[in-house]
Amino acid sequence: MSKHTHAFQAEVQQILHLVTHSLYSNKEIFLRELVSNASDACDKLRFEALDNAALFEDTPNLDIRLLVDKEKRTLTIRDNGIGMSADEAIAHLGTIAKSGTRDFMARLGDDKKGDANLIGQFGVGFYSGFIVADRITVESRRAGLDKGQGVRWSSDGTGEFEVETIEKAERGTDVILHLRADEDDYLQAWRLRSIVGKYSDHISLPILLKKEVWDAEKSAYVATDDWETVNKASALWTRAKSEITQEQYDEFYKTLSHDSEAPLAHTHNRVEGRSEYTQLLYIPAKAPFDLWNRDKKPGVKLYVKRVFIMDDAQELMPTYLRFVRGVIDSADLPLNVSRELLQESRDVRAIREGSTKRVLSMLESLANSEDQAEKDKYAGFWKEFGSVLKEGLGEDFQNQERIAKLLRFASTHASEGVSLADYVARMKEGQEAIYVITADSLAAAQSSPQLEIFRKKGIEVLLLTDRVDEWMLSHLHEFEGKPLQSVAKGAVDLGKLQDEAEKKALEEAAEAFKPLLDKLKDSLKERAKDVRITTRLVDSPACVVVDEGDMSAHLARLLKQAGQ
Ligand code: ADP
Ligand code: MG
Repeated sequence: MSKHTHAFQAEVQQILHLVTHSLYSNKEIFLRELVSNASDACDKLRFEALDNAALFEDTPNLDIRLLVDKEKRTLTIRDNGIGMSADEAIAHLGTIAKSGTRDFMARLGDDKKGDANLIGQFGVGFYSGFIVADRITVESRRAGLDKGQGVRWSSDGTGEFEVETIEKAERGTDVILHLRADEDDYLQAWRLRSIVGKYSDHISLPILLKKEVWDAEKSAYVATDDWETVNKASALWTRAKSEITQEQYDEFYKTLSHDSEAPLAHTHNRVEGRSEYTQLLYIPAKAPFDLWNRDKKPGVKLYVKRVFIMDDAQELMPTYLRFVRGVIDSADLPLNVSRELLQESRDVRAIREGSTKRVLSMLESLANSEDQAEKDKYAGFWKEFGSVLKEGLGEDFQNQERIAKLLRFASTHASEGVSLADYVARMKEGQEAIYVITADSLAAAQSSPQLEIFRKKGIEVLLLTDRVDEWMLSHLHEFEGKPLQSVAKGAVDLGKLQDEAEKKALEEAAEAFKPLLDKLKDSLKERAKDVRITTRLVDSPACVVVDEGDMSAHLARLLKQAGQ
């Protein structure tokens, strides 16, 4: 194929414009992104080679090399992974397959001095090379293709890129960065070493750099022909906990999740017994932009005996824990495990149950901690992910009680953070139910006339204003033997909370006002099921309630809004 020029997809052009004009902080992350692509490419090769060992050709040892050419002012990131065919290079380096690009731009748009860290989060990491390079040349050959079927892709990061066929003896990819005039820093071995140490130490493949020695004549460090491994080159989760620092855990999380913030908490365990596996799971501090998409795949990567098998293995984590990020490395599953097999595997079920329990205990230890900083973390977690966790009440019956204890609400006694246990501890003598009211907003809930009698008697009512709360109530009927009761439903039986005098007054009033009630019932018969005397109001003359077991007025409104 002779040289062809292609235009970037419009979205890519926009991304490139942003990358080269607004990412000034954390520029160095371009190396993390390119090294992580190289590592992904090696994982892919290893995976495809499970069925076709010939793909390894005569170089089964996978690694990543960083090459510096001080004369040409280039930095090359070389891997001997899966490589790309010409068509793949055109597709993968010229278009963006994933959604979310627009969110990326929106986030960067507000902040002209954008943080480069954001870039990896949106699956556009390759383009971060243009932060430091004014031209990128990629030379690649896909494993299994002839030496004559290599490809050279090249672009200056504006509107177009060029593609031509080349000879390439070695399988894999060279990403050659022609550094911008003021980016000489990235030609220094010590600088590269320090960036690799910071961001890529946990990469399980060796990352190699040419050893340098001091040349007195040139009074500079010069490269020798010896390669030296600059990272630990063992997968982080396989190391002993005592050998891993908090910082290393955090950096691993950032690469895994493409999040720029450190996670709230992690759990790292080797599980033995019925099923043998290692888990390293994280709870992020901030919700990703697409959390609300229930189709979003849970973010747990599956490895089998340290071989990467797949991203987002849905079977490993229930949907309501889709915010969890991490790695599970199984010792029992076969390497050629398929999605179908995952669904049926008993080992997978054991892993899923075990991991769910771990995540819940992680949350419990934050929520129940005596330490205020941990408690605040839980409050932060609840704000970001509380609504998602509630889905678990309907999805995970086995853990319903544990999930119920993790719920937090606003109430007539506190504006946030009320647990069901707090509520039960504050219940009045003789109170049998947990009272709740659902509404669109906190203000609407607080001003509801339904609350008058509860206020007067000092009885706490939980104010439920989250869209999923109605749904939640249909799955959570009681807590510690106390039923949850909506104050906007039925006759509100205050039971023992009502004194004799009140009961008597109610009966007398019902008798005295019978003619009026009959008249009202008759004139409202098309619209109201019943009209009755109530003690639930203190200041308001009347209110509308729905029958016990009927759809609440709030839910009816929600459904109407949703067009049902
Ligand atoms: P992501 O890594 O999230 O998919 P990137 O922008 O980092 O997004 O990379 C885009 C795509 O380009 C990758 O998905 C992959 O298909 C291809 N690619 C990038 N670097 C390499 C490489 N070193 N070897 C093989 N393919 C690569
Ligand atoms: Mg990438």
